[in-house]
Amino acid sequence: MNKPFAITLDVGSSRANKTGSWRDERPLYVHRLPPCNDACPAGENIQGWLYHAESGDYEAAWRELVKDNPLPAIMGRVCYHPCETSCNRGQLDEAVGINAVERFLGDEAIRQGWTQVVSAAATGKRVLVVGAGPSGLSAAYHLTLRGHAVTIYEAGPMAGGMMRFGIPTYRLPRDVLDAEVQRILDLGVTLRLDHKVSNIEESMSEGGFDAAFLAVGAHLGKRAYIPAGEAAKILDAVSLLRSMEGEERPLLGRRVVVYGGGNTAIDAARTAKRLGAEDAIIVYRRTREAMPAHDFEVEEAESEGILMKWLSTIKQVDEGRLLLERMELDETGFPQPTGETEELEADSVVLALGQNADLSLLEGVEGLVVADGVVEVGPDMMTGHPGIFAGGDMVPAERTVTVGVGHGKQAARCIDAWLRGEVFEHAPRPELATFDLLNPWYYADASKTVSPQLDAVRRSSTFDEVALGLTEDNALFEARRCLSCGNCFGCDNCFGVCPDNAVLKVDEGDGYAFDLDYCKGCGICVAECPSGAIVMIPEPL
Ligand SMILES: Cc1cc2nc3c(=O)[nH]c(=O)nc-3n(C[C@H](O)[C@H](O)[C@H](O)COP(=O)(O)OP(=O)(O)OC[C@H]3O[C@@H](n4cnc5c(N)ncnc54)[C@H](O)[C@@H]3O)c2cc1C
Ligand code: SF4
Ligand code: SF4
Repeated sequence: MNKPFAITLDVGSSRANKTGSWRDERPLYVHRLPPCNDACPAGENIQGWLYHAESGDYEAAWRELVKDNPLPAIMGRVCYHPCETSCNRGQLDEAVGINAVERFLGDEAIRQGWTQVVSAAATGKRVLVVGAGPSGLSAAYHLTLRGHAVTIYEAGPMAGGMMRFGIPTYRLPRDVLDAEVQRILDLGVTLRLDHKVSNIEESMSEGGFDAAFLAVGAHLGKRAYIPAGEAAKILDAVSLLRSMEGEERPLLGRRVVVYGGGNTAIDAARTAKRLGAEDAIIVYRRTREAMPAHDFEVEEAESEGILMKWLSTIKQVDEGRLLLERMELDETGFPQPTGETEELEADSVVLALGQNADLSLLEGVEGLVVADGVVEVGPDMMTGHPGIFAGGDMVPAERTVTVGVGHGKQAARCIDAWLRGEVFEHAPRPELATFDLLNPWYYADASKTVSPQLDAVRRSSTFDEVALGLTEDNALFEARRCLSCGNCFGCDNCFGVCPDNAVLKVDEGDGYAFDLDYCKGCGICVAECPSGAIVMIPEPL
């Protein structure tokens, strides 16, 4: 069917007749929730900041972004970007490179020295945050912006949590981490380093705190029972990665075996290679498809020469060698031992089998529930003990930096309400802007910009950053690929196609309104809106 266009009429020809009287439906501009915003665990208004970036106003874009997430340069490097997995553009060609643009904005803010100020009046309330990882830092940031006095107690010698003592520098350079942490502290957050909390209730009453947010993470490497000779060198991945921040580099030997299939295993193997191991081999008891590590990380590791041994378990470790048993999948897809073994040379074995949380600071706290090694919290992030909130890796959720940041934000809003004797209520959720609501034919073809990478030789021999950022031109191009799903972006289509000139420009040309005296309810504007931002609603009786 041919699409009806306004050019079939003389512009303005019908405007003399007030044709609205025979209409049974009328158009309405709506705001829908873009799927990217919906998927971001930090609750970023991605479409909102991309809109500013599209016009080259990067500072406005950054300011929109940091309303939700104070760590865009970090997030633009380490977030697994579920926003891109949900992006509607992925159904047209390829998802918008949201993560790369976020990194560009974060880096630009550091380069330009953009700062923030607290405009809220001081509330006189004091909040203790335990742990200076992403979740604790995010909570401290959002609480401070709401006028509360925040102190962070951090057990370690530096802030950052697993962003500093887990994620290797080739993925997150420490000057980037330092700059974003410092900007949070500059808002007036007090940070006490080397200050481990051993009893939360005591710390709260000694410091005169009105509420606490706990974000102690999960730092205890899980051990598996593996028979081992006395001289066998076995260490856990988290300790190995933490030691990278120390003065002395760990000695792993020529051949290193990493046991596990998660992202930590990949980081440990890539680190071992960079430390000089000729062979770094990941041993995992399942198949590649079942591996919890993300595909792109496995691919990057393979391209650096990391070897993988699937469907294998470690039976025994001795000095210089280990014994593997081959596994096979049963009919349910679960790996079962086969009894077939093989030997593998290995100077050291690194266990990357996940981490447990150290919750000893919570012993004896009334009402608090710990199940499966993590602390239960409600939707307001409050534990069973009034005034004690928790988030990040120590609560039941996906363990990522972004989820931790989102928990910190949610907890800050709920702590703020709780301190005022109120309950935080989310605004009603708009309908999701699904792909079928868009008119994709309207948008020009534009392939995703590929971020450059460090060359292969330097990658496996140095700790230099692997993924390189977008140039300004590329960031601008990428931001402009956004389809503005579910919200008007001022394209003038409805204004142009209306046969009755019933679309008016308002707000100094920035928005539109319907002149219902002239609209006859034909719905052409709805059919032609590229972003699904107009609906027809029944005429009121
Ligand atoms: C090797 C590795 C790589 C990872 N890579 C990624 C990645 O690329 N992307 C991603 O999204 N996620 C990644 N993660 C997961 C991510 O790092 C965590 O999910 C995230 O850091 C959790 O944040 P958090 O604030 O809850 O805890 P943490 O970051 O663990 O911070 C907790 C802080 O609390 C402090 N603390 C602990 N106990 C106490 C106490 N009793 N008193 C005072 N302070 C205390 C700790 O010293 C620490 O600084 C990775 C994890 C690891 C181990
Ligand atoms: S934090 Fe992650 S999910 Fe959110 S916008 Fe950035 S890349 Fe996307
Ligand atoms: S096209 Fe834009 S608004 Fe739509 S999902 Fe992707 S980034 Fe979000």
